[in-house]
Parts: sequence; C-alpha cells; structure tokens
Amino acid sequence: MASSELQQSISELKQHRQAVILAHNYQRGEVQDIADFVGDSLGLSRQAARTDARVILFCGVHFMAETAKIICPDKLVLEPDRNAGCPLADMITERELEALKQEHPEAKVVCYVNSSASIKAMSDICCTSANAQKVVASFPPDQELIFVPDRNLGRYTAASLGRKLILGPGHCPTHEHITSRDIVGEKSKHPHAKVTVHPECTKEVIDLADHVGSTSQMLKYCQESGAEEFIIGTEIGILHRLRKENPGKVFYAASPLADCPDMKLTTLQKVIWALEDMVYEVTVAEEEASRARTAIERMLHLS
Ligand code: SF4
Repeated sequence: MASSELQQSISELKQHRQAVILAHNYQRGEVQDIADFVGDSLGLSRQAARTDARVILFCGVHFMAETAKIICPDKLVLEPDRNAGCPLADMITERELEALKQEHPEAKVVCYVNSSASIKAMSDICCTSANAQKVVASFPPDQELIFVPDRNLGRYTAASLGRKLILGPGHCPTHEHITSRDIVGEKSKHPHAKVTVHPECTKEVIDLADHVGSTSQMLKYCQESGAEEFIIGTEIGILHRLRKENPGKVFYAASPLADCPDMKLTTLQKVIWALEDMVYEVTVAEEEASRARTAIERMLHLS
C-alpha cells in the first residue's frame, strides 16, 4: 500500500475507534506525520492526561505507553509493537533499587520517566529530561536523593544544581553512540553551527555543547536561535521535525549511529493493524499503578 493510502486508512480507523495517536519525537517521520500530537515524554504525558478520546494509541516505547495507562486508567491504551522497549529503563530492577534504598534509608527516590511502572511505584517522584532540575530542586538541599536509572541525566542535573545525587548505573545506548570526537568532527565541518545535545549524552559530549535540553527544549532552542546551522546530539528521529518546522535552517546529526532500534519498530502498517485489531493493550496492576501515579502526578503538579 502506498504511504498516502496508509495515511488515509489510519485517519478513517482513528475516527472509527475514537482514538488519539501520540508519537514521540524519535519516531519515524511518517509515523510522526499521522500523529495527533508529537512531543517528548513530558508533553505526551500531559496530552494523555487531558485527552477525551476513548483510545490512546502510543507510538513510542513501552514505558511511555505504560505511563499513559497509569495516568489514564479508564482509557484503552494500545502500543503498535509490544517489543518496543527501552534498554535504559531495563537497567534498574526492583531488587537493585531496594538495595540502594536500604543503603541510604533517609534518601528519597527520583526516577526518570524512562523506567518501569514498578520502579515508579517505588519512587517518591518522577521526572523527565525537561524538568529533572526543577524536580530535584524541589527537595531541600540537605535531602539525600537517589536518582535512577540514567547516570548521565543524573550527573548533568547534579552538576547544574551544584548538589550531590546518588546515581543509578543506567545509560541510553543510543545516546552513548554519540562521542566527543563526533561533535569535534562535525564542528570542524560546520564551524558556524550551534551544538545542542540531550542530557542522556555523556559528560564529554555535554561539555562541548552550546545548549543542553530535552527534545522539546532542543526544538525550541533551534527555532528561537538566530543561528542557521545546528549539530543535533540526540536520537536522529528528531531531525524530521526540526527540518519540517524550520525549512530555512540546516541540521546535522552528531552521529548517524544515534538511531534507536526500539523507537523504529513502529511503522504505519503496524499502526493500522493496531487500530484494526485493537492491539496491543497495555495494562498495569491497579495497586502498582496507584503508587506510580502518585510519583507521576507529583511531577506534573510541579511542572
Ligand atoms: Fe530508551 Fe535511549 Fe531508545 Fe530513548 S533512545 S527509548 S532512552 S534506548
């Protein structure tokens, strides 16, 4: 089926199913184009919270669809490919977090949204890359804090606030494909370009950047900056939106290897199958969901 036919089928099915399609900024360009909302984890959580659609079809990875289900327990939340996971989210287990809590009994737990429902349920508050600093700063300076699972976001947040965090050991393999050598190489090819990177990148990469932010903050920076060229240090799916929204500007990927295989599992054909067969339903046990919801709602109230 041609892409325009697929788009037409999706539009009809969406209406028929009373569904809203949410897509992350790292999705394939054609998937972003059929979505009702495209954004980062925080923006999509907010959209999930305020939609009155009966069905949420989440084009992203599993923890995002799970977060939408936790926020909207009465809605049917579907994910087009149930294998779309997040290796970073899998880098902290309940046992490991429990061990950290035992080691630091006075500490509160801040968990990055890239985590399972069970980790959120064990945390005091959730955060995204857009609001990690605000969330951490909401605790008194002398409050011990455990930050899981992303050590890069945790390290960046701690450094920018000048406070100490107890960090989990996780990292995003896709963002760690971007090296300082890539940034230096791209800067020598494009000396006038500004460098904007995601805080899931390593410290060495962050130290070379002009700007650090979540995907929405990166989009805003590129839109508002007077510069005409940008080196983009995050998952390459974001280039689609950057180019579409800024036709007069030029964007270079810091590394073509920053291509998340899980994010790319969702295709237009799978979106159609999901809406035709109403699969794959995302469920979270209510007791766990209720504790995880408290951590997410605390974050949403703060931001
Ligand atoms: Fe997870 Fe990294 Fe892929 Fe995002 S880009 S879904 S953090 S592995």
